[in-house]
Amino acid sequence: MSGDRVLMSTPDVGQVEEDYVVAAMRSGWIAPLGPDVDAFEQEMSARIGVQHAVALSSGTAALHLGLLGLGVGPGDIVVTSTMTFAATANAVMYTGATPYFIDCDPETGNMDPGLLRSGLVELKAAGTPAKVVLPVDLLGKAVDYTTISQICAEFETTLLCDAAESLGATHGGQAAGSFGVASAFSFNGNKIMTTSGGGMLLTDDRAMADNARYLATQARQPVVHYEHVDVGYNYRLSNLLAALGRAQLTRLDEMIAQRRQWRDEYRQFFRQVPGIEIFGGEDAEDNCWLTSIVVDPDLAPMTAEKLREQLNVANIETRPLWKPMHLQPIFEGKPALVNGSSEMLFDRGLTLPSGSAMSRDSMNRVLAALSDALGVR
Ligand SMILES: *Cc1c(COP(=O)(O)O)cnc(C)c1O
Repeated sequence: MSGDRVLMSTPDVGQVEEDYVVAAMRSGWIAPLGPDVDAFEQEMSARIGVQHAVALSSGTAALHLGLLGLGVGPGDIVVTSTMTFAATANAVMYTGATPYFIDCDPETGNMDPGLLRSGLVELKAAGTPAKVVLPVDLLGKAVDYTTISQICAEFETTLLCDAAESLGATHGGQAAGSFGVASAFSFNGNKIMTTSGGGMLLTDDRAMADNARYLATQARQPVVHYEHVDVGYNYRLSNLLAALGRAQLTRLDEMIAQRRQWRDEYRQFFRQVPGIEIFGGEDAEDNCWLTSIVVDPDLAPMTAEKLREQLNVANIETRPLWKPMHLQPIFEGKPALVNGSSEMLFDRGLTLPSGSAMSRDSMNRVLAALSDALGVR
């Protein structure tokens, strides 16, 4: 089987995006900041239902400024998910704090609340209570914020949310990105909505938003000459990219609907295959960013790795789920509370082409290649 390579998730941009970006360019606001940045922030905060949104150059920058805004620094411990992309833990490292990794619920891949509680008990007993809890909404499913918020309140620790993958998802009807004291979104090229590169910090706390804006613009004091009393960062989003983000936001719901359509088709397909399930369980509140499967090597026709190799030969891109942070060489020796769930998912999980820009033909090719590989007739 040939044809162009079918990729996992490519940017979904067209005429609407072109119109917004050209208009921004013609407006003369080419510099970082400008009216599209202000409008993008307002439109996002309205959509998510939070008071303040700060547009930034990446989701990693949003996490970094969120942590700094909470006073996180050397000697502090930030309790976070082991099942995530490295950016979450890297942001903790930038501050000089220590990440403490918590394993996941095997069904959803999201932070296990029971293990979180055990970790917080252990840290408190050791006299080093967690400064911040930073869970990740994996692949577009919000974590169990009801339980996790309650645990954070009980242990008097602050909840910061890595919502990089969950824009458009909800928990109990409330938007991802509106829980805890603040949340970070990512608009990287492969995310559900993109500014090519970008991110945002959302919060109801005015002082936190002001502080993030200040640090993101090189910590300039409000005087005419350049006066600095803090180390700042160059983390703001450019006006052109904010225009792209505004265009994408008008299409967010249709992009989510398309990804859900692919999810439903995969779910239908894998009903016929023993030992392979759609990862994540119940998905009514998810944004369906990426669809992954979990392959039981004892029951399925082949392992996840064999299936990945066969699809690769058919020119179809798939990838294992995130390699857990506690297994990464760079985080060796960092404290972790693990129960085998994330290692099982890394071993058995495979993410399939899921992008909203994927064509009907490409999806048909993926389904045909899966049928071939798995012997489905
Ligand atoms: C993409 C991602 C980030 C980082 O966002 P960037 O915009 O790429 O910096 C952080 N956390 C998670 C869970 C992500 O998937």
